[in-house]
Formats: sequence, structure tokens, C-alpha cells
Amino acid sequence: MKFFVHTYGCQMNVRDSEAVEALMIAAGHERARSEEDAEIVIVNSCTVRQKAEEKAVGKAGNLIAAKKITGLMGCAVKRMGEDVFKRLPKLDFAVGPRCFGLIPHIVDRITAGGERHVIETGADEVPDGIGAHPDSSKSGASPFQAYVTVLLGCDNRCSYCIVPDVRGHEYSRPANEVIAEVKSLVENGVKEVCLLGQSVLRYGVRNPAWRDGDPNPGGFKEAFPRLLHALNGIPGLERIRFTSAHPKGCTDELVRVYRECPKVCRHLHLPVQSGSDRILSGMGRRYTRDEYLSAVSKLRTLDPGFAVTTDVIVGYPGETDEDFEMTRSLMEEAGFDNSFIFKYSPRPGTRSALLPDDVPVAEKERRDQVLLADQEKRGARRNGLLVGSVRRVLAEGPSKRNPARWSGRDGGNRIVVWDVKEGVVERQGSLVDIKITEAHPQTLIGERI
Ligand code: SAH
Ligand code: SF4
Repeated sequence: MKFFVHTYGCQMNVRDSEAVEALMIAAGHERARSEEDAEIVIVNSCTVRQKAEEKAVGKAGNLIAAKKITGLMGCAVKRMGEDVFKRLPKLDFAVGPRCFGLIPHIVDRITAGGERHVIETGADEVPDGIGAHPDSSKSGASPFQAYVTVLLGCDNRCSYCIVPDVRGHEYSRPANEVIAEVKSLVENGVKEVCLLGQSVLRYGVRNPAWRDGDPNPGGFKEAFPRLLHALNGIPGLERIRFTSAHPKGCTDELVRVYRECPKVCRHLHLPVQSGSDRILSGMGRRYTRDEYLSAVSKLRTLDPGFAVTTDVIVGYPGETDEDFEMTRSLMEEAGFDNSFIFKYSPRPGTRSALLPDDVPVAEKERRDQVLLADQEKRGARRNGLLVGSVRRVLAEGPSKRNPARWSGRDGGNRIVVWDVKEGVVERQGSLVDIKITEAHPQTLIGERI
């Protein structure tokens, strides 16, 4: 049957959806070109904020009204459990984020016998198909970029965060399995991989990722830097990215990898959440403002062009104007290349949900706007430093707005756009050198050299 997967939320969800596509295709189904064209639609949901959950659940509701076979997967399912059928009485099936491998079997049961209302919320299992990638010609995936899940779950317990409840305990996939997966992607044309985990620098902490006797030519003590070093040696692979990183994991071994491994992109997404020590401690983040800033300065000492991006929450319970101004000044001091600002949303069952959500909505909105405006200026200024320099860019394809232009990303994950010169044939997935001529807050413009 023709199916379509509609994805909300983070990169981890994007990756899980791809694995589901691969499993569905392997089970004999065909990926529909659009949702309208599909008989089965699976919505991969997010629950990190209330709004995100509502969007996904609302989407599933619309699909049910359109008489599609509708399934819900992902984080919202695990949070709601059986209650999902109260919200969506006609939903056909629901699976949690760590058991999406069951979807093809559930679909079989439903289409064969008309069984309805199947739910598997799962716990800490490793989903079947965790390493399955669809052939890019049969899926929506890029032929030259791929996500690879390395760490499932999260054992940090940040006070506001529901992720550990829905994605379970940490599990590090064995390094040999990850390396084999990346090699096979590279054999199929992939040039850039992005390794995924909620707190990916904790790779190998809860369970060992490396076996005794595995080679360790760099002499690493920490599992994640060792993995990066091993992947850096794979011929044909051009770039290695990873996300997300908890500031606690920005160790000297990690910095050494940035120095020694040219394929590891000099970009780190390092969510700070707040610039106030009082709020950071309430959040249970386990670092101070100064510790955070010194991690950033280690990276910028290595390379002033090192791109550091972040997540910030505004309106955490008890956040005063003073706390907020501390966040503002931290963001300026850290010189973030980009940042994602979230308005605090209490999540049931988290520690902070017990505190009064006392920052008024309008004030959260104001703080959000202030930080966005600051980031616009800072982004333009950071990007301005690159005018005149040459950036190595992975060509992604014609720009959506103007097909005479191509766009791609540099190692810092900055979007770079250039005019295609007459007689030049650009190739998707190739590395090109672009001289930067103009800077905007979110994009760089340049010419091919
Ligand atoms: N594991 C990642 C973050 C996953 S959630 C990490 O720790 O880096 C992505 C972002 O959503 C978080 O960094 C945080 O800024 C935001 N977030 C999480 N819970 C939230 C909540 N209850 N309200 C508002 N924002 C939240
Ligand atoms: Fe949530 Fe903190 Fe884990 Fe990130 S590190 S997923 S914010 S608990």
C-alpha cells in the first residue's frame, strides 16, 4: 500500500521516520509522493512543548477525518499512553519512540483483519530497524547526507524536560555497528553524516560502546571522541557532524578531536538554556555560566571561526528580569552564531511542572522577541567576519527562491548561496570553494572560485 510519514520535532524524529520508511519499503509498501496520495499516513509526534504535541495530534485528527489509515508514533504517544485514544477515538495505531520497528507488523494486522486501536508504548528497548536507511531514490532522504543514531534516550534529568520520560534510559549503540553503518552509507554515496543523541557526548557512559580489543590508535579514554576519530578515517566520507551536546561533555579530548580530525565540522550545538546561575541550578543543568563560557572559549581559541549555536528557554519559573538580562549578556559574550529560543512550557511529570508557571505569557513573548532581535544583529556581525574569506561548502542543490543560484552549507552549518556561472555544472553533494562577498544574519552570499 502507499504510505506517507509526516514528521514533527527534532532530528531524532526525522531519523526515526526514515527508518520507518525503510522498514515499510522492505515490507513491500510504497512511499507515496504526497500525503493526499497515501492510503496509510503515519504521524511522528513531538511532546517537548505542549504546542508541539498539539500540532502532531491535530494533524492525526485531520488525517482520520480524511479517512486515511492513521498511525501516531513518537514521543507524544509515550507521554499519553492509552489516553491517546481518548483524544483520537478513531486512531488506528500508536507506537512509542523506542518501538517503531513494530509498525510494519501492526499495519499488516490492521489491513488484514481490520484490527484497530493497537498501541505499543514500549520502554527502553532498541527498536528493530534502528540502522535501516531507505534507498534515497525511494524515499525523501538526501542521497549525500545521512543521520545516524548513536545514543538512544537520556539520563540527564533537567527539571523542565520530558525527553527522559518518553525516550527512556540511555543506550549507546556498539561502536562497531555505528562504524559499519557509516561505511555502508558512504558506499552508497553519502558524504556527510550527522550523529544523533539527546546528549550525544554521553555516548558510552551508561553502557560500554567499545569492546575490549577494539583498535584505539588515538589512545582515547572517552568513547565519543574515539568514535569521531574512527569515523574520520573512513575514506570517501567528507564531513562528520553531531548533535546535541551537553556542556558538561565539552572535554579536552573532544577539543583534541576538533584539532586532529579535519572531517569533524567545527560547529557545536551547545544548548545553554539560561545565563543565570540561579536558574541553571534550578534547572539541574550541572554547570555554571562561567563553566559554559570557558567551554566556548576553548573552541574559539582553537578556531575563531568555530560556529557555536544554542538553545535557550525564556520564562522558566521564577525567571526575573535580572536573570533574563544575564541570559542576554551570556549570549553576547558567547557570540552565538545562531540560537533557538523556546518559551517555557510546563510538561506533566517533570520537576519544574510542580513550580508555578509564573512568568506571564506576554512577558515570555517579550523576552523571546528581545533575544531574537539580538541574535539577528549578532548573526549579521558574526557572518560579517567571514566576508572576503573562502568557505568550503557542500553543494546541496538549486536555491528554492532562485534556481539560478545554488546553496549549501559550510563546516559551521552556515547557509551559503552563490550564482551558478555559465558553463559550470554544479553537482549535488560535491565540495566547492566559495568566496564570501555578502553577509546576512542567516545566510552568506558568495562566488564560486
Ligand atoms: N537533548 C537536547 C534537547 C532536547 S529538547 C539537549 O539537551 O541538548 C530541545 C530544546 O527544547 C531544549 O534544548 C530546550 O531548550 C527546549 N525545551 C525542552 N523542554 C522544554 C520545555 N518544557 N519548555 C520549553 N522549552 C523546552
Ligand atoms: Fe532534556 Fe536535559 Fe536530556 Fe536534553 S539533556 S533531553 S534537555 S533532560
